[in-house]
Amino acid sequence: METRIQVMKFGGTSVGDAACIARAAQIIAAASRASACVAVVSAMSGVTNRLIAAARRAETGDQTAGPEIVAALCAQHEDALKTLVRDETARQAVSEQLKAVFQEGRRLFEGTALLCELTLRTLDTILSLGERLSAPLVAAAVRELGLRSKGVDATDVIATDDFHGSAEPLMDRTREQCEVALRPLLADGIIPVVTGFIGATTSGVLTTLGRGGSDYSATILGAALSADEVIIWTDVEGVLTADPRLVADARTIPEISYREAAELAYFGAKVLHPKTLNPVMRAGIPVWIRNSFAPDKIGTKITPMGQSIGGGVKALTAIQDVALITVGGPGIVGLPDVVGRTFSTTAELRANVLLISQSSSQNDICFIVSAGDAKRTVEALRKEFAQDLAHEKVEHITIDTNIAIVAVIGENMRGTPGVAGKTFNALGRENVNLIAIAQGSSEANISFVVEEKAVKTALNTTHREFGLGLPSS
Ligand code: ASP
Ligand code: MG
Repeated sequence: METRIQVMKFGGTSVGDAACIARAAQIIAAASRASACVAVVSAMSGVTNRLIAAARRAETGDQTAGPEIVAALCAQHEDALKTLVRDETARQAVSEQLKAVFQEGRRLFEGTALLCELTLRTLDTILSLGERLSAPLVAAAVRELGLRSKGVDATDVIATDDFHGSAEPLMDRTREQCEVALRPLLADGIIPVVTGFIGATTSGVLTTLGRGGSDYSATILGAALSADEVIIWTDVEGVLTADPRLVADARTIPEISYREAAELAYFGAKVLHPKTLNPVMRAGIPVWIRNSFAPDKIGTKITPMGQSIGGGVKALTAIQDVALITVGGPGIVGLPDVVGRTFSTTAELRANVLLISQSSSQNDICFIVSAGDAKRTVEALRKEFAQDLAHEKVEHITIDTNIAIVAVIGENMRGTPGVAGKTFNALGRENVNLIAIAQGSSEANISFVVEEKAVKTALNTTHREFGLGLPSS
């Protein structure tokens, strides 16, 4: 009989300090009794952000940023190592591994400060340091429990294109590399602990899969190994009906479909990286979201069909760090290809477009991008339409950042009449002003744009209207 394979990913908070890492190791050890396990780990929480900040400082020529962060990371990881591994010789071996990463880090920051230049390629390598430090620690913690485990660099496993900062996996090549770098370890009963977030081009240049990309790493490996399941261990109890910081009676959804989870992820429910489900969807591999701080709770299971509950609305999400960009003015009526040119521009930038709405008068095309993409998107659009702007065919390209998207999500809303009506009636009653509305023909989501200050009311009103706070029967 084929052995079962589980790929489990631990997010930054789940490996945030020695105690968390020890807990993660326990979870891995327990799972490894029933199946072969591949662990995928994020950097310790906050590390990637700190690396970015330091890299930005180095880029301005600041020579101290590098040594400072490397010293801080050294203290943090050595500290965790001391707590996790008792045996002096074993500890020394891991310490040597970490040292090599620190050494590389120092040189990367030195080079950046010297050149006052930070290419996306260099930034990727700098950001990879976090995962390359956490993986050896987690593997050591698993060995401490008497199991065999080995840190594995994802650059040997996940092959990607060369789009630095948000690379896409090359699945065939990744599959082959998994057979070489992971399968034999599993066959020998060794638990690989793979660095999340990173990969490499076919010529071996390190890339990253985008912020929060370790989830994606886990499903890429799950699909490549034809795993039986992927478990994302995080710091929340699964996928919730809404953000509990904004909606007090939000609750965990026991089962949800790929589609719904993807819509939620895409719309900023921070549980999953938006691309996470792509690799596993075709193979139908279930993905669990579970809380490493409460491993007795079963969390949310993401499956091909999900579980339908009455009314069709499954969850709400709001996304606040976004900007509304409008390309418009009466002059654009009849101007050929404004839509095409607008979205070729965003595509070229790989800007994440979250919502599009065009009025039939064709006066305005408005769309929403992540706040981080907003500035360069507007700049690129102004460039693209420079001539038309000069001739006033396109009269304005504007940006509004005081807005948020709220999305009502549920696969079974399809064909359920009245969801939109119910939503907008309820919002009208509460005086929530709608700036733009969009529903894809998939009908798995209705999204609307509101002023940022109205988000909480919009969410609570809709949550109540669809009875999402009540346990499903
Ligand atoms: N460490 C990376 C980040 O913070 C990847 C991840 O945590 O998933 O974005
Ligand atoms: Mg993370």
